[in-house]
Formats: sequence, structure tokens, C-alpha cells
Amino acid sequence: MTNNEIWQAVLSELELTISKANFNTWFKNTGIVTFQEGRVVLCAPNTFTQAWIEKKHHHQIIQSLERITSLPIKKLEYKIENIKNVVEQTINTSFLPSVSQEQEKAAIVQPAQAVPVISAGFTINPKYTFDSFVVGKGTELAFAAAKAVADRPGEAYNPLFIYGGVGLGKTHLLQAVGNELLRKNPATSIMYVSAEKFTNDFVTSLRSGGARDFQNRYRTIDALLIDDIQFIAGKDASQESFFHTFNELHQSNKQVILTSDRPPKSIPALEDRLKSRFEWGMIVDVSAPDFETRVAILGKKCQEKNFILDEKLLNTVATIVQSNIRELEGALNKIIAYHQLKNMSPTTESIKSLLSSFDSSSARRSVTAAQVIEVVCEFFSVTNADVCGKSREKKLSYPRQIIMYLLRNDLKMSFPSIGDELGGRDHTTAMHANEKVTRDIEEDLKLKQEIELIRQRLYINNI
Ligand code: ADP
Ligand code: MG
Repeated sequence: MTNNEIWQAVLSELELTISKANFNTWFKNTGIVTFQEGRVVLCAPNTFTQAWIEKKHHHQIIQSLERITSLPIKKLEYKIENIKNVVEQTINTSFLPSVSQEQEKAAIVQPAQAVPVISAGFTINPKYTFDSFVVGKGTELAFAAAKAVADRPGEAYNPLFIYGGVGLGKTHLLQAVGNELLRKNPATSIMYVSAEKFTNDFVTSLRSGGARDFQNRYRTIDALLIDDIQFIAGKDASQESFFHTFNELHQSNKQVILTSDRPPKSIPALEDRLKSRFEWGMIVDVSAPDFETRVAILGKKCQEKNFILDEKLLNTVATIVQSNIRELEGALNKIIAYHQLKNMSPTTESIKSLLSSFDSSSARRSVTAAQVIEVVCEFFSVTNADVCGKSREKKLSYPRQIIMYLLRNDLKMSFPSIGDELGGRDHTTAMHANEKVTRDIEEDLKLKQEIELIRQRLYINNI
């Protein structure tokens, strides 16, 4: 039997167990890519379809494959692939079901082409939708922009660039656009990848001589969603490839959405031409949720998880956990697990004692000077030795001043000891730096954002 014949037989079994509408939506343009030694790879046109099939029909497909081929199936895997690119393959089965004429014809039309070996993007989480996103002051604009892009992809804002600290909903919004585009048209081909994966794929393709496949793969999609684009900084060849990919997609009005932990201007070692491309469309930020938003998010998450916390307890959690929404979810999960295990109802006391480690003022106190220096150096891509060294280059003096400011304001260190931490500088240098940053922060929005982002990194890792 050929792989197409086997798949048609599987489909005809599946068709009997699910509704026609469902069947047409989810199994159109699917097929078997390879079938080897009990290992089967299926292809789907996009990550959403793939996730759905895997979630709902994985075991059923394995059983059906075993029944039809009389071969044990050891592994069933999935990949995003255009069905037209799948090569016809004959599999030695011990059992031959009758194949209808229709199916035989279908088998013949499959063009035989090489299958590119580049791996597909990550799966989009079907839970990350606009509906499950609670809009607050810090996310109003980003939410509206993401919705506009989902309504008019390639037209509203292209690219859309969303930035902000960890756990504030960037990935959620990015994937919500993907989910919405797929809901409107399940045939849309969407690529969702982290910048790290983009870079890795690119490097692998160079090694295996598949650079052209790589380019084709990324350039033939309808929308490209890249998460955490800051990781592409400093990787020259990947930036070059991304630049061309971006231009082609943009020229043909295909939507590009990017997220980052900071605005394009503040990404060191990002080529200027990329920075300027990112500014073509719309740049929006997400910032930490205020108290009301935290309460609303907690309420919604409780509903989703079928757990009851009254208003007073919701307020208690929202007061203790202030940093970001990932922490808020983590705190809630902790509360749920604890009270279910103990089989008791949550009280203000039990919540307070459970969440003592989330208290942000104690988190601040527990951060050390060395950690401040490390995080700031990492943020600006400079080395610890350079920052503590003699050079007064702006590239170094700027992070140095920020370190001094943080050591003074957050760690309450004395000026002489701040000077000591930074390579034995005079205490007046530390004083001037602190005054300068305190003054500049009022007028310089970029500086303010950078310090906010650095603080988030510092304190989140410490709670
Ligand atoms: P980021 O990518 O900015 O680090 P994520 O998008 O991964 O953050 O968000 C972290 C978690 O918090 C996710 O589970 C996400 O669903 C949830 N979350 C973030 N923002 C919101 C929001 N406004 N409403 C509901 N859930 C949110
Ligand atoms: Mg993210």
C-alpha cells in the first residue's frame, strides 16, 4: 500500500466517528509524510490543526493505523508540511484493504517532490485567545493593536512590535492573533517561532545545505510570529536572513508580529536597518497590571480552574503578588494545590503564609550587589570587567551609572561601598551617577523603561 492509500483508509474510519464539519475542518490537507519501522509522521497545514489532531485524535489514529496495516505503531509524530510536497511511498503491509477508484486517483495526483527537512514552528496554545485575555491599563493599547492586526492582517500595522517585561502577556497576545487568524480561516499558514528557534533552524539549514528550503519555508507563509526577537541580536547571519525574509513578507503584505523584552532602540547589537524596519509599523508596550486588573485576572483564572476565592481573598492575593501575571498564576496554582491537598478552604492567614515568598519588598532586600551588576551587564551586553574598569566610553558609563543608581535606591547601599563594588571608584562618582539618573529618568522615557525592565529581571528571579 502507498502512504496515501493507508491515510485514506484511516480517514474513512475517522469519518465515521466525528461530525462532517469537524472532519472537513481538521483533516483537509493532512497526510502521511513517512512510515518507517513503526514510526509514522503525519503532516498538517498549520500548527493549530496539528495541535487539534494530536490532542483529540492521536490514539484513535494509532489504533486505526495498526488495524489497517497490521503493523505495530511505535510512534506517531506530526509536522507542518504542505501536502503537495509529500513524496509517495510504498509500505509493505501484511493486509490490503480494498482501495476505491477515487482514492487510487488521489494517490496518483500527489506530485513527487523532495520534502524539506526544516522543522516546523512551535505549536500555538489554543488557550491563548483574545477572550481569555483580561485587558487592563497596562495592556489596553497592545490589546487593541493586536486585535486590529487580527482583523486586517498585513494592513493595519505591519509589523506589530510588542515589548515589555516577563510574564506580562506578550506571548499570549502574539498567539491570540494566530488563534484568531486560524479561527477565521483554518487554512491560513502561520509560523510561530522564538527568535532562538529561528536562529537554530537557520544554522542547521546552513550546515545541511538547505538554506534555500529554509528561506522558502519562511517566505511562503501568511503570517510570521516571532517571540523574543531580542535573541537575534548579535547573530549576524541570522539577522541578515531575517532582514530578507521580513522584506519579502512585508512587500507581499504578509503580517509580521514580533515580541521583545525591550523596545527596538534598546536592543544592543541589533542592526540599524532592522531597528528601522521594526519602527515601520506599530510599537506598543505591555506594563505591569494595576491592582484592579490583578483582581480581575485572578477572578478569571479561578473561574477557568473551577476554584472559588471570595472577593476579600482575591484582594489579598492581588496585594501580595504585584510583579506580573505569570507570578500571579503561579501563586494561584500554589493556593489551589495546597488547599486541595489539605482539603480545607482558603483563609486570609493560610494565603498569607503560603505566599510569604512573593512579598516584593523582601525580594528587593535579598538581591545582592553582584546580582545587580550581572543583570545590568547582561541587559546591555557588556562585561563585568569592563563596567568595573577604567574606560569612560558611553557604552560603559551608561550601564555603570544605572548600576550605581540601583545599588543606592534599591539596595540602600552607602556611596563609598557602591564605589568599591565598581572597581574602587570614588564615592563622589557614585553620588553624581545617582543624581544624574534620578534627574534623567524624569525626562528620558527610554531610560525609565530600561530601569523598569532591569528591575523586573532582578526581582522576578529572586522570588
Ligand atoms: P510574556 O510572554 O510577556 O513573558 P506570557 O504571555 O507568557 O508573558 O504570560 C504569562 C502567563 O500569564 C500566561 O499564562 C498568560 O496566559 C497569562 N496572562 C498574561 N497576561 C494576561 C492577561 N492580561 N489576562 C489573562 N492572562 C494573562
Ligand atoms: Mg513570552
